[in-house]
Amino acid sequence: MFQRFKYAMQRFFYGRYGVDQLSTVLLVLGIVLCIVGMMTRVTWLTYVSYIPLILAIYRTYSRNLQARRRENQRLLSLVKQLKDRDNRYFSCPKCRQKVRVPKGKGTIKIRCPKCGEQFVKKT
Ligand SMILES: [Zn+2]
Repeated sequence: MFQRFKYAMQRFFYGRYGVDQLSTVLLVLGIVLCIVGMMTRVTWLTYVSYIPLILAIYRTYSRNLQARRRENQRLLSLVKQLKDRDNRYFSCPKCRQKVRVPKGKGTIKIRCPKCGEQFVKKT
């Protein structure tokens, strides 16, 4: 009986994305919004909390693995940028390539390594 249930679950989840960091963040965000909404008796906040929860569920059962991996990768690189205290990140105004430059060098001219475009930023 349990074996059949396990087999059915495996078949259901086969080819689906599953849980990742972004889904976990969405889940926690939804739960926090829901609790805050209930404690402050702000009804609309409780309804708003369904959005990240539904997104987390949708992502977990999604079959579009590439798109979900890309979304998760975006979150991970954002977290990495926020943790990086020694560098600043800019995107090239021409090709949107991410460019990393050391912090504390004042206003500098940055040359995009991909397209060669030059732009001035304060680091
Ligand atoms: Zn560029």
